[in-house]
Amino acid sequence: MALTDNFGRSIHDLRISITDRCNYKCVYCRTGNSGAAYAELPFKDYLRMARILVGLGITKLRLTGGEPLLRKGIIEFIRDLSKLRTLGGQKPEIALTTNGHLLAEIAQPLKDAGLDRVTISMDAVDAERFARITRVPNGYESVLAGVRASSKAGLDPVKINCVLLRGFNEDQIVNFGKFSREENVVVRFIEFMPLEEDRVWTPEIVVTLDEILLRMAEFMPLEEIPHERSETARRYRFADGVGEIGIIAPVSHPFCGHCSRIRITSDGKLRTCLFSVWDHDLHELMRRGANDQKLEEFILNVVQKKEERHHIGEPGFIPASRTMVHIGG
Ligand code: SAM
Repeated sequence: MALTDNFGRSIHDLRISITDRCNYKCVYCRTGNSGAAYAELPFKDYLRMARILVGLGITKLRLTGGEPLLRKGIIEFIRDLSKLRTLGGQKPEIALTTNGHLLAEIAQPLKDAGLDRVTISMDAVDAERFARITRVPNGYESVLAGVRASSKAGLDPVKINCVLLRGFNEDQIVNFGKFSREENVVVRFIEFMPLEEDRVWTPEIVVTLDEILLRMAEFMPLEEIPHERSETARRYRFADGVGEIGIIAPVSHPFCGHCSRIRITSDGKLRTCLFSVWDHDLHELMRRGANDQKLEEFILNVVQKKEERHHIGEPGFIPASRTMVHIGG
């Protein structure tokens, strides 16, 4: 009974935001004045949701936020998630997206609990620029320690996500190429999407896939690596085989036709697209005492409502009902 939406897309990738709080105030994501806007649930509620969704065909779980490492109990939660079994009888793949600030200490315990992979967000590879973006002093060293601890713990491939903004950090492209080679991590550039609290997005701010490739090729020639159909990143290795970069280009090269994702927000709403203009209250149903079968029916029905594609940059674009930090990126 694998989950399939109305457009024939297999939905096997679930992202769960486990908190709406964040310890960074990245300039392109948050206003810097507002904090958490939505509740967080006890882990047992996310676990029940995940169990039901894995029973319907989800094979990959990603924990995110807000900042997921702010949540005490995350290690036990991952241990519980790793006991779930997919329809094929395997442990689901478990991944984490984090800003890495609190990662160094717990990378190994997370791995031991069943975490398979980690993606760390970094938008600059120099300490001063990093502080300007995150609006938190002295974060860079902590995050770098988190990257290294993750590699050491075998959470590979360690992926670094970088959002580029024109006129702000686009000069970091080549430095990230070098970082990928020196630290043996995969650096993935993500095109900036209109999902920020401040609503500052314009098409001109987006540094596109084509531009990134051109800049990087001036540093060293790149070869494209074949990628899976449902993989969001275009992947490239440097000609000498050392280092890998990826580019996630939802704006200039949308991949909605291959989207395999569904999301749960920290307050237990199901979202079928980052750009959804409404969400679906799974937790409310649970609170009212629905049994597993009722929740399954609800989920199957919601999945049929998954949007065909986003409409970024088109006339009449309607902003999503939540911004990235409150959805879970
Ligand atoms: N706190 C965690 C972190 O920093 O990775 C998880 C949540 S954060 C919202 C997830 C990712 O979304 C980060 O890599 C961040 O750079 C990215 N992001 C935030 N706003 C974005 C936007 N408007 N467009 C593209 N990516 C965005």
